[in-house]
Amino acid sequence: STEGETTEDARVGLTYEDVGGLDDELEQVRELVELPLAEPGRFRRLGVEPPKGVLLYGPPGTGKTLIARAVANEADAHFESVSGPEITSKYKGESEKRLREVFERAQERAPAVVFFDEVDAIAGKRDEGGDMENRIVAQLLSLLDGLETRGEVVVIGATNRVDAIDPALRRPGRFDREVEVGVPDAGGRREILDVHTREMPLAADVDLDALADRTHGFVGADLRALVTEAAMGAVRDDRDRVSADDFRRALAATDPSAMREFVAEL
Ligand code: ATP
Repeated sequence: STEGETTEDARVGLTYEDVGGLDDELEQVRELVELPLAEPGRFRRLGVEPPKGVLLYGPPGTGKTLIARAVANEADAHFESVSGPEITSKYKGESEKRLREVFERAQERAPAVVFFDEVDAIAGKRDEGGDMENRIVAQLLSLLDGLETRGEVVVIGATNRVDAIDPALRRPGRFDREVEVGVPDAGGRREILDVHTREMPLAADVDLDALADRTHGFVGADLRALVTEAAMGAVRDDRDRVSADDFRRALAATDPSAMREFVAEL
């Protein structure tokens, strides 16, 4: 494809094994995405339309993109990824055309998932936006409505500001299902730490339960950064195992991202 930046083969990608915690969230998304992609007939036989659009909302770094990629990959679906801010700035004036192309490709290659990261940038409330924003929302609405409701294309939007989305986009037949992807609790953090240390040789003194307990407020992206930072310690000293001390130092050097934002606001 010539559209390397927005399209890719999800088959090389992530699986459910790569998602830590989020069992309920993943189950909801699977039901809303996998089934319509694989067996739209099941819905139709009961006289209902298969779900078309799912909105994942929650703070940054909690795994929304991860879930979207994993579900597309596991469903053997083509994956189209669009960044909201990018399509509005980089393709200024051309955004609607780009959007149409994304949906066309998705339908050609169905089953497909169209993923909009930071969807609020292209789906903001029309009464708060300018002319360009409003045209983009109108285009998105018409593309969603025009999707042949055979179920083989499902649209997933991710946002950390669900209230900023134009209400028309949240009506039936559009982004009508919402799944909250929140900050993980200690159990979730433990599972995320497991994911990111799966292939990592750990010294016997590393206690991931204790680490999960001590990382309150850390989201998945933070935990991944923490694990990487700890491994850097072992790399620096040319040790072949990552130790509890590496994790201690990494922890002292890392704040959860929510805390960083909070500090920045002071
Ligand atoms: P944003 O709103 O900033 O796009 P997001 O919710 O889409 O955030 P991701 O892009 O999915 O977050 O997360 C960034 C990275 O953090 C992931 O690629 C993954 O490595 C790690 N990560 C986040 N959440 C999880 C999780 N639940 N399990 C495992 N890894 C995670």
